[in-house]
Amino acid sequence: MSAESTEPTAPRSFWLAGRPATGAGSFEVRNPYDGSLVATVSVPTDEQVEQAVAAAHAAVPATTALSAHARASALDHVARRLGERTEEIAQLITAENGKPIKWARGEVGRAVSVFRWAAEEARRFGGEVQRLDTDAAAAGRTAIVRRFPKGAVLGISPFNFPLNLAAHKVAPAIAAGAPILLKPAPATPLAGLLIGELLAETDLPEGSWSILPVPNERMAALTTDPRLPVISFTGSTVVGELIQGQAPHKHVTLELGGNAAAVVLADYSTEDDLDWAANRIATFANYQGGQSCISVQRVIADRAVYDRLAAKIVDAVARQGVGAPTDPATDVGPLINEAAAQRVEQWVNEAVDAGAKLLAGGTREGATYAPTVLAEVPHDAKALCEEIFGPVLVLQVVDGVDEAFAAVNDSKYGLQAGVFTHNLQHAFRAHRELEVGGVVIGDAPSFRADQMPYGGAKASGVGREGVKYAMADYTYERVLVLTGI
Ligand code: NAD
Repeated sequence: MSAESTEPTAPRSFWLAGRPATGAGSFEVRNPYDGSLVATVSVPTDEQVEQAVAAAHAAVPATTALSAHARASALDHVARRLGERTEEIAQLITAENGKPIKWARGEVGRAVSVFRWAAEEARRFGGEVQRLDTDAAAAGRTAIVRRFPKGAVLGISPFNFPLNLAAHKVAPAIAAGAPILLKPAPATPLAGLLIGELLAETDLPEGSWSILPVPNERMAALTTDPRLPVISFTGSTVVGELIQGQAPHKHVTLELGGNAAAVVLADYSTEDDLDWAANRIATFANYQGGQSCISVQRVIADRAVYDRLAAKIVDAVARQGVGAPTDPATDVGPLINEAAAQRVEQWVNEAVDAGAKLLAGGTREGATYAPTVLAEVPHDAKALCEEIFGPVLVLQVVDGVDEAFAAVNDSKYGLQAGVFTHNLQHAFRAHRELEVGGVVIGDAPSFRADQMPYGGAKASGVGREGVKYAMADYTYERVLVLTGI
């Protein structure tokens, strides 16, 4: 891995109230795989941040009044342009994030879907007429109920899906008629800024959107500003809780971390069953180096299938292709930086020192951590009870469904769970009892379709994304009572 760099000519601009702008100073975006310089990005000044907030606030009447047709047309345009530029954008994501190119292409496809769904939801976003005269006291009255934006939205997105999770902030805001100020992650600002290029080709109202790479230490100016009454945050639990504390009177949606479990029950026992489960678990523990909030971290297997499953998982993990993210055959690339890989290494070493068995992996080269499988991990080891956010699986053995589901719930997190079973009773029981935002039957927990409600229980978050659910979060019902009608 070399550290060659091509010096970019000038810092990239950000988007201030719909226009490209540069500020004071810049920061570097480096390729996590080889350390090369991908770009430098200009940093907005305090004054520019203030201008963006004022513009977003001032744009609320215009975005609220914007027709469904205009909202949907802008969203369709962005979807179409993302689709046309898929390869270029995927290469950009791979360069700034280190994500293997096949996953980066998939991410662009998902962002296209998010904008398309948002266009459809914008067309559907209606209201209802209510009879109020069911009560004698309300005779002669009728209500029209419509949803209106709570105000401008502050969207804060993480590094691990730099395009699609930015899309999940921007697209529902446009569909709901809310101005949006997006703050992308400092390691991966380029995909978020690229959305600005496409929005700039639309006729969205003046000042209604900004994309600002504001440094973390200056973010309180935004999170506490009353002109941004809605915050939609995706990122770590620690930062999400900090923001929630800073903004007690705001509507704050938090999409936070997890240590998702895949449960394999005793009935899932044929060779084909276990091959499928092992392959899916190995794939979704390691895709993007395990840097997905719903990566499989814990495997909770019934004793009846544990030994055979564990052997198949170790084999499947060994088949994961580790290498250069630009190689289409690569499954596992680097983590976001070397410090992240060192932290994962430290947590694995701590678990092994405390008695865990290392069944695969456990090695690091720069920012790349090898796909790793641990068993017999002590209950309080960070590799088990915290979010590892790396390519590490922890195998646990249980006896029966009660123990399996109790083990899933024995976590401070609760984002999604996967349950490999053919038994409908177990499937419905999982839906009832697992303390998570989503249960996936017959697959790993790492499945997300962008229109479904997505979010966590416990320390994994508050509120739901998924286009129409985010639109509901960004808006509130306002009733119009008509008298004599
Ligand atoms: P992070 O919390 O470090 O950063 C997330 C965003 O918050 C970034 O834009 C960052 O610049 C910003 N930020 C940091 N400090 C801030 C502050 N004091 N005030 C305001 N904003 C601040 O997270 P990350 O490392 O970028 O992303 C990884 C985390 O995101 C993991 O925990 C992962 O599970 C979580 N995640 C959750 C979901 C979900 O939908 N639940 C999806 C993807 C990632």
